[in-house]
Amino acid sequence: MSGNYTNPETIVLHGGSYRSDPATTAVAVPIYQTTAFQFNSTEHAANLFALAELGNIYTRIMNPTCDALEQRVAAMEGGMAALALSSGQAASAFSIQNLAQAGDNIVSSTDLYGGSWNLFANTLKLMGIETRFVDPSDPENFRRATDDKTRAYYAETLPNPKLDVFPIKEVSDIGREYGVPLIMDNTACPILCKPLEHGAAIVMYSTTKYIGGHGTSIGGMLVDGGNFDWTAKPERQPLLNQPDPSYHGAVWGTLIPEALGAPIAYIIRARVVLLRDLGSCMSPFNAYNFIQGLETLPLRMRQHCSNAQIVADYLKGHAAVDKVIYAGFKEGESGRRAKTYLKGGFGALVGFELKGGKEAGQKFIDSLKMFYHVANLGDARSLAIHPASTTHSQLSAEDLAATGVTEGYVRLSIGIEHPDDILADISQALDAAG
Ligand code: PLP
Repeated sequence: MSGNYTNPETIVLHGGSYRSDPATTAVAVPIYQTTAFQFNSTEHAANLFALAELGNIYTRIMNPTCDALEQRVAAMEGGMAALALSSGQAASAFSIQNLAQAGDNIVSSTDLYGGSWNLFANTLKLMGIETRFVDPSDPENFRRATDDKTRAYYAETLPNPKLDVFPIKEVSDIGREYGVPLIMDNTACPILCKPLEHGAAIVMYSTTKYIGGHGTSIGGMLVDGGNFDWTAKPERQPLLNQPDPSYHGAVWGTLIPEALGAPIAYIIRARVVLLRDLGSCMSPFNAYNFIQGLETLPLRMRQHCSNAQIVADYLKGHAAVDKVIYAGFKEGESGRRAKTYLKGGFGALVGFELKGGKEAGQKFIDSLKMFYHVANLGDARSLAIHPASTTHSQLSAEDLAATGVTEGYVRLSIGIEHPDDILADISQALDAAG
């Protein structure tokens, strides 16, 4: 580390060991666009492969540009180490595959991004890993679904469309009783929430969203909090406690030298086993792009949040709007969770239901001039989508309601433009939608 900083604004610029390029003294992190790294000798090469010495081997497994990004994101989260991946989807798949094998199960919140839902309900199922989906409004549902084969809990901090903040501490406390780690997808609220501080063991990101912000690159990240004892209940985590035949019998939970100061067997295995075997590495060029985004993330999140608050307040008072879904407007237990887990703002996702239903929702989207009509979120630009006619169009009215999407629901991802321009575009589109 170039400094032991605690403020996110400083960490995103100076976190991690990178200070300047050792070869040229360049201040900006260079794009090390190379596939391979030269070994000093056969002994050096053998040591690297045996993990007796740490160093660069091959960009599928590690790369100095990715390393600079990984260290900064780990520092930002208060974690010990991170792993950059080719997409958020790869990060969620790895997060589970690193602990669960055929015959095992995980317990996941029902409030999930559709891509994660498909991955868990269908693709991981084909691999023999069962996902038990539970309603997160009652944390005890996680305990009820747990059995001897449960390897992980999984949830999103600020899941859309419902925007009910997840009970991180409550569920991670239950998991810790059983030796089950909580993996949190924090994609929608970096900076605002640090799940590791509330007991989560692993944080997952689609860096494609706010961390990049520029909308140029697809990427993902896993952060190991170094706060979970993977060996305390060895039978609970066999992949980290039994000899790994693919790595001459290494036991990941005990192999890691004490000198590293924290249990990070999880992230080591994800890198040297899953990345080695499945690929899905982040390209150095994309890592460079994400570093550019990360450097202004705290500033952007402030603007995203204050703009979203302005939009939510405006929509709440508009005659054409039936209901506004925004973490800052939640009441009761959901409101308490939003205030407990989100600091500095309630995120930049705002949903609303138009009185005119599906037709009005579509008309609204078609009338937007500045907002982009895309399936993405977390871009610096403002984005909008009408789920009932796009992402959720295959669902029955009943299933739509279960996911929290109504026919007239519109999802906005509020950008960092001037709030007057955002409101002007929304206002004229609402007029057009009648
Ligand atoms: N998690 C969440 C909350 C997302 O919104 C997304 C993408 O929309 C993903 C994961 C998947 O990320 P990616 O598109 O980078 O694969």
